[in-house]
Amino acid sequence: MTGSRRAVAALGRICAALVLALVLGLPGQGGAQDFSGLATVAPGGSEIRDRRGALEVTLSLSQGVPYRIFTLEDPRRLVLDFREVDWRGVDPKVLLNSDIASSVAMGPFRPGWSRMVIEVKEPLALQRADMHVDRESGAALMGARFTPVSAETFAAGAGLPAGSAWDLEPRALPAPARDPDAPLRIMLDPGHGGIDPGAEREGVVEAPLMLTFARELRDLLIRSGAEVFLTRDEDIFVSLEGRVAMAHAAGADLFVSLHADALSSGRALGTTVHTLSREASDEASRLLAERHDRGDLLAGIDLSRSDDEIAGVLMDLARTETQPRSERLADALVLSLRSEGLPLNTRPRRAAGYSVLKAPDVPSVLVELGFLSSKRDRENLLDAAFRARLASALRDGILAWKIADDTLAPLRLK
Ligand SMILES: [Zn+2]
Repeated sequence: MTGSRRAVAALGRICAALVLALVLGLPGQGGAQDFSGLATVAPGGSEIRDRRGALEVTLSLSQGVPYRIFTLEDPRRLVLDFREVDWRGVDPKVLLNSDIASSVAMGPFRPGWSRMVIEVKEPLALQRADMHVDRESGAALMGARFTPVSAETFAAGAGLPAGSAWDLEPRALPAPARDPDAPLRIMLDPGHGGIDPGAEREGVVEAPLMLTFARELRDLLIRSGAEVFLTRDEDIFVSLEGRVAMAHAAGADLFVSLHADALSSGRALGTTVHTLSREASDEASRLLAERHDRGDLLAGIDLSRSDDEIAGVLMDLARTETQPRSERLADALVLSLRSEGLPLNTRPRRAAGYSVLKAPDVPSVLVELGFLSSKRDRENLLDAAFRARLASALRDGILAWKIADDTLAPLRLK
């Protein structure tokens, strides 16, 4: 970006922040104090529709709530954040009645906040937004209108509003110093959550299933003497970069991301264990990695600031040490799953450019416990007894890796 474009973009962000202040009725946090409790959405009075070339969003809410609106690029998205809105009962397919917008997603984002993200085919800018609250009932009608603008105008105005560092955790945190005899510290990462439910098949949803399994695995690992943290312990959205930052900030010894995705083609089944690689081991893994990144984009994460070349070089250096440790962790997990007689995929070890595995200093693997697109895997994962076998095999694999990793520790640099 050139200096002048950067200045224009900065100006756009200030404008976005002003819109925020106006719609919230700020100064300060004052706007939030007038509201309490969780607002529900009446599907009947709510719609996203085209009107004379503009896009109109209408939401019928049980009560007024503070909100903010901003736009993001690549892909072009309109992001509406609301305080305390419960989206249950709203079907995105029914809500979306537009040719300008290609998709809509909504759900919990941060504690106390929920998000709606509308992906649009044309560059649009917010023209007006208002919320009318009925004096008698307290019910609110929120309306926002977006009108076409040039691609340049859209680009200049896109970006997170200033002062809203919700999405990305601080990156360069020094990891806390660890006593070599301290218990093994594990960061478990239940995939997806909140506005991003992950895969869904036959009523089985990946995000809550992964949270259930992560809690079960946590209990088992704690009983083995490990310290265990979860990147999320509720139905909430956490960005991929936020998950990596958490592992780093906690000084975790290892990071295990848990998934059960669905494939649109083929009949993949059984557990697979994935590590980071620039080159994907196969097409299915490449698509999985891409879809996980896309989940972040569709949840309204601004990735425009993530490219920092110098940081990239430093990270590559650290990964040279970490990568073989990640590979051995993945091998240990596969070995343990196999020796327990659990159903593995015919090619259980895979690799791709998973953003969630990019912690430079924490050995990281991603386990696809099974595929929700496979009836057998789905039934297995819904079975608590099967999950218990899976969890104990993963625990055994982690503990075996730890013993081997300790014996190699003196050989490592530092
Ligand atoms: Zn997943």
